[in-house]
Amino acid sequence: AAKAGGGAQARWFRNAMQSQAEDRLQLEGLLREALERNQFSLVFQPQLHLATGRIQHMEALLRWQCPALGPVSPAAFVPVAEDIGLIVPIGEWVMREACREVGRLRRLLALKGGRPPRVAVNVSAHQLLSPGLVEMVQSALADAGLGPEHLEIEITESIFLQDADRALATLESLRQLGIELAIDDFGTGYSSFSYLTQFPFDRLKIDRSLVMNVDQPGKGYAIVAAIVSLAHALGMKVTAEGMETPAQAEQLEALQCDDIQGYGFHRPLQPKVLERLLLGAPPL
Ligand code: C2E
Ligand code: MG
Ligand code: MG
Ligand code: MG
Repeated sequence: AAKAGGGAQARWFRNAMQSQAEDRLQLEGLLREALERNQFSLVFQPQLHLATGRIQHMEALLRWQCPALGPVSPAAFVPVAEDIGLIVPIGEWVMREACREVGRLRRLLALKGGRPPRVAVNVSAHQLLSPGLVEMVQSALADAGLGPEHLEIEITESIFLQDADRALATLESLRQLGIELAIDDFGTGYSSFSYLTQFPFDRLKIDRSLVMNVDQPGKGYAIVAAIVSLAHALGMKVTAEGMETPAQAEQLEALQCDDIQGYGFHRPLQPKVLERLLLGAPPL
């Protein structure tokens, strides 16, 4: 009989809960030290622009090499950083580092008459609503000697669940600066068509969970086709996320997707590898 506090199962459950809470505390502690100890870096995943066959955009993705835990996925630590407010300083580091890298690529490519792809930076809900975000972005661009045409900001719809009016006002200011805005992971979670009409996004990124079925006859194809037409009808460009196979790429091209991003084109790349790719140098 399950008496309060008794039984092997209840004990096991309590222990499991306790070790989960301890893991979480440990992660928070390590995360608090990560910035000042230089444990973060950025990788960049190129997107293929189908109409030209060129790389016009790339996404900056955060990496954390933790000495105690090894590499930790942003899918695991970004939500924790968001919960404890650390995403604000970490996000500022990401923005400044991404701009600095594009500035460096710009100087290198200028020698060959080229220009770097526009960099897309992920901004989380808490960060978007933090005071001074717009000024921080302006200063990151200015410090790197870049105009707004070099930057795109990716947000997810969960942003609108918190404080939709303030989120919209901030997005509006960013857009007025000339920065492009993309709605990320479209087709998952809280996707709602009403956000698309309330706010003029420049780009819609179709989530990998939909893109992976685009080469399946029937529903998988129909859903992506409908999203691409909807986005185009609303004046948005479309990026497909998570393209892994030639069959998917072929379908996405037939559907007139604008850009595709995925392991089937390139994985997220270290800056030095990206640099060689953009300069047309043979891979290391
Ligand atoms: P996201 O913004 O949707 O980024 C795309 C994710 O899909 C990246 O995972 C990328 O490596 C992965 N991906 C790209 N192509 C493929 C593919 O073909 N197959 C598969 N299986 N995966 C693919 P990553 O780098 O692990 O990032 C996960 C999430 O963490 C991001 O999803 C984003 O929500 C968040 N994140 C990453 N960097 C940052 C950042 O600097 N700031 C914030 N706020 N969030 C970030
Ligand atoms: Mg993204
Ligand atoms: Mg995404
Ligand atoms: Mg995602």
